Amino acid sequence: MTATARPPSTDVASAVSAAAALLAPARDVTLVAHVQPDADSLGSALALGTVLSRRGARVRVSFAAPAHAPESLRPLDALGLLVPPEAVPAEPELLVMCDTAAPERLGSLLDRLAAARASVLIDHHASNPGFGDVRILDPAAEATVVLVHRLLAEMGAPIDTVVATCLYAGLVTDTVGFRTAGPAAHRMAADLLEAGVDVEAVLRPINGDHPFGWLDALAGVLHGATLDASAAGGRGFVSAVVPVEVMERYRVEEVDGVVDLLRTTSEADVAAVLKQVGPRRWSVSMRSRTVDVAAAAVGLGGGGHPRAAGVTLDGGPDEVLARLCAALTPAG
Ligand code: 5GP
Ligand code: MN
Repeated sequence: MTATARPPSTDVASAVSAAAALLAPARDVTLVAHVQPDADSLGSALALGTVLSRRGARVRVSFAAPAHAPESLRPLDALGLLVPPEAVPAEPELLVMCDTAAPERLGSLLDRLAAARASVLIDHHASNPGFGDVRILDPAAEATVVLVHRLLAEMGAPIDTVVATCLYAGLVTDTVGFRTAGPAAHRMAADLLEAGVDVEAVLRPINGDHPFGWLDALAGVLHGATLDASAAGGRGFVSAVVPVEVMERYRVEEVDGVVDLLRTTSEADVAAVLKQVGPRRWSVSMRSRTVDVAAAAVGLGGGGHPRAAGVTLDGGPDEVLARLCAALTPAG
């Protein structure tokens, strides 16, 4: 149960030691990523899972939805640790939650948190309320893999090519190609390259390899983009809609690139992509240069980081855009 005698950790270094102490003798470990897992979440879980598995623990890695990991991230699972959520024990001995900004991000696996004998949170979202027995929670970390890297050092675990590749995938994507990476993260990247990471082999499947038909679909999405220069307190707001037909036809590797194009719009500080996930339901990705989009997302029930955040909203697209604009407008 989570009701152990151990109090929540207060600082990152002591949380890292506490997590290492919990993981060292563990015989059975369940690592979970958030729903719609990205490279940081899955890379974190698979890097740590690979090390623990090689040490002889029984390890499984899972996430609640969708049914399969993004095609581009499947190569990270070199040991075949991924299992469907139904295969996660009802009462995990030790549950490690990676990059999960809020308990709800566990999706249908949320019940395993209450049932786990012990749990560890590893995350870098400032909006994270803190949950789990041991909490490695550091908003100063550029990615959750940075914290996993620190934990592996504490455990004295060697970083081989498989582990390094998982960590690199999370690092390069969460820092938008090292744009937001500080000196220590660049040093970490150098260590990972020395451990044998093939950068092109990691990155090309994630965001550099699309079917020809995507060019036409992307043209349609960008053709419908709109700019509201007066929104977001006058800093400008650009948005585009990805309709359900496009969502169903193309992979997350295609669709998730749209916001990276929108955010290059000179006249807009904030970019948002409305991805249609139901008749009146939208998964919204937001990016900004200066506006705190995490605050706006949290206000609407989502979460994320100051420069990259998301939320799921119900309604028509115009209604959703109006709610986003209202949330992005400074009060007063
Ligand atoms: P992305 O736009 O790349 O999907 O997500 C950007 C950031 O926002 C990530 O840190 C992600 O965890 C967070 N995020 C995206 N969608 C949601 C959501 O629906 N709810 C919450 N709480 N966070 C989200
Ligand atoms: Mn992350």
